[in-house]
Amino acid sequence: MPKVKETILELDLEALEHNYNYLRSKIHPSTMFLAVVKAFAYGSDSVIIAKKLEKLGVDYIAVAYAHEGRVLREAGIKTPILVLHAQPSNYAMVIKNCLEPSLYSPRVLREFLKTSKTEKQKAYPVHLKFNTGLNRLGFSENDIDYIAGQVEDRKELKIKSIFSHLAASEDKSEEEFSQNQIKSFEKIAEEFTSKLKIRPFMHILNTSGIFNYPEAQFQMVRSGIGLYGYGNEVRYDAKLRPVATLKTIISQIHKIEPNESVGYNRAFIAGGTKKTATLPLGHADGIGRQYGNGKASVLVNNMEAPIIGNVCMDMIMIDVTGIDCKEGDEVIVFGKGHSAEIFAAQVNTISYEILSGISYRVKRVVTRV
Ligand SMILES: *Cc1c(COP(=O)(O)O)cnc(C)c1O
Repeated sequence: MPKVKETILELDLEALEHNYNYLRSKIHPSTMFLAVVKAFAYGSDSVIIAKKLEKLGVDYIAVAYAHEGRVLREAGIKTPILVLHAQPSNYAMVIKNCLEPSLYSPRVLREFLKTSKTEKQKAYPVHLKFNTGLNRLGFSENDIDYIAGQVEDRKELKIKSIFSHLAASEDKSEEEFSQNQIKSFEKIAEEFTSKLKIRPFMHILNTSGIFNYPEAQFQMVRSGIGLYGYGNEVRYDAKLRPVATLKTIISQIHKIEPNESVGYNRAFIAGGTKKTATLPLGHADGIGRQYGNGKASVLVNNMEAPIIGNVCMDMIMIDVTGIDCKEGDEVIVFGKGHSAEIFAAQVNTISYEILSGISYRVKRVVTRV
């Protein structure tokens, strides 16, 4: 691998392929696979990742917002794209880019019907989301009569799937709650079919759902975090490989005398003689201030080095006392050999947040195609 000369986010597409195959091995061969690439493919690069996933043969791709889907279409992605949270003001963009919206309330259903009529659409594919306990987005069971009344004799729409989302799929202590969500989803599906006389395909599982409730895979599963190498549990992390590795280098090394301070507001005061290293990345790159003041550490020549003092906009300082290192040496912030899940846990957050927050100032470099 070429020597790292600046802060980069390395993307390992072989790891993506491995994770996809591993997740696929957990479900029935005939179950469809939707790959979630919202938020720049969890902070990596949505076009690079979607192109690889398309080659691997995923059945569906999902993004959160219409603009994210348009970028994929402009890059030549042909796979069906589900837009999880398209805003009604963007429905014309949805249609122009052949994106398939999730409709989740009477208001947005009416809005989409209006737009598809204006755009002269026939049987436009949509997906209906039902709320089974997350209480975030979704029709309620009581809306089925309303939906039936709206779509009856209307030729503009075709309901391709109905779906729901688990609130605590990674949390075994909430197993009963998750099972109840699955049961209500099945009940909704039955009622839906009996009232609308159609049988759209069904999906409710995210990554942890695939691991913990595979019996509820229905006709499709939706995976995001697992594809990027994290499984919300140590035993699944061990089977998956991080796609993104945030690497940087040591810009400068300082010898700090006892009682000297490091960084803004003198937040770090040296208890003894210290060796510190300054790294070229900061909160503008996605490493929030909560990672500072000894909370989280990075990897320098295979040794853990805590981030000391306040995280600056463009730099962080780390304590490398006792670590054999020099200016120009490579540093791993998270990724291969230094799990993003553990790095995030050091500041009480989750892998999803640190991954999706790496800003576009950081160059993306594909290492293994
Ligand atoms: C983000 C998202 C997913 C993916 O969840 P992971 O835990 O990353 O697998 C699936 N479904 C919906 C509705 C989502 O918003």
